[in-house]
Amino acid sequence: MAGVTVERLVGGYCLGEGPHWDHITQKLYFVDIYGHKLCRLDPETGNVTSVTLDGPVGVAVPVDGSTNKFVAGCGTNFVLFTWDSNTTLQSCPTQVLAKVDTEKTGTRINDGKVDSCGRFWGGTMALEEGSILKPNEGSFYSIGSDLVPRKHISPVSISNGLAWSKDDDTFYYIDSLTYQVVAYDFTASTGSISNKRIVFDLKKNNVPGLPDGMTIDTDGNLWVALYFGGAVIQINPKSGELMRTVNIPGAKNVTSVAFGGPNLDVLYVTSSSLGLKEEDQKEQPNAGYVFKITGLGVRGYNAHSFKLSA
Ligand code: ZN
Repeated sequence: MAGVTVERLVGGYCLGEGPHWDHITQKLYFVDIYGHKLCRLDPETGNVTSVTLDGPVGVAVPVDGSTNKFVAGCGTNFVLFTWDSNTTLQSCPTQVLAKVDTEKTGTRINDGKVDSCGRFWGGTMALEEGSILKPNEGSFYSIGSDLVPRKHISPVSISNGLAWSKDDDTFYYIDSLTYQVVAYDFTASTGSISNKRIVFDLKKNNVPGLPDGMTIDTDGNLWVALYFGGAVIQINPKSGELMRTVNIPGAKNVTSVAFGGPNLDVLYVTSSSLGLKEEDQKEQPNAGYVFKITGLGVRGYNAHSFKLSA
């Protein structure tokens, strides 16, 4: 593709995930799930700071109206913590806001995102144990300022990518082990989803890998990270067409994507080195790195922050 550039940024992470561009501070947040970390990249300087929590951090987002408060999915808890984000903290006290999957053990919160009303949406999956992963152990929830989790989809195997359409009436979702991207009707006022339909099936389109994290561009097309697929794809959810494939060099397990930069036209990409053997690491020298893709000719939307009080 003419003009499209993929650049390796920072790395050495285990399971990089959940990129979130904070347009207020112009910084990129991302998590290293099994590093138990939320990281912040300053794209101007390349400096990374991080905070280490007390368990796997599936996702973390800033609290609306604050520059030093964050909500994270840590284990099966939604927790609140304070971090000035300019310094690295090796530990950090957290306050539990809500618990999910309370009826079982062996799961953790994975990917999540905040909707236009400030509710956090995120789901769970079984803990990775070697290369074995128990399917159908997770569920998909939302949590608003009342801090009461609402279960929307169950069971789920690996709760992953989320995106909302420009007019906010459609919600796109990925449960990775289905190999599908699906759409639901979304009602912002009530925070409900209904009328599931499949918009893209990776297997039917001969797309390798598992669909993982996802974002949407302002033309309404979806960008999906391919775990085991070494690439990011652009798909049109209205026509079901595979539009573009951008290969990520030296990293097969591409985990998630988010638009960022001053013009929201940079696609930031996270990847994983989890479970790679020595020979895999030789083949994938960039596994666990964060990348940026420029020159795509598309842009995204500002991400929302969690509204802690209504
Ligand atoms: Zn993911």
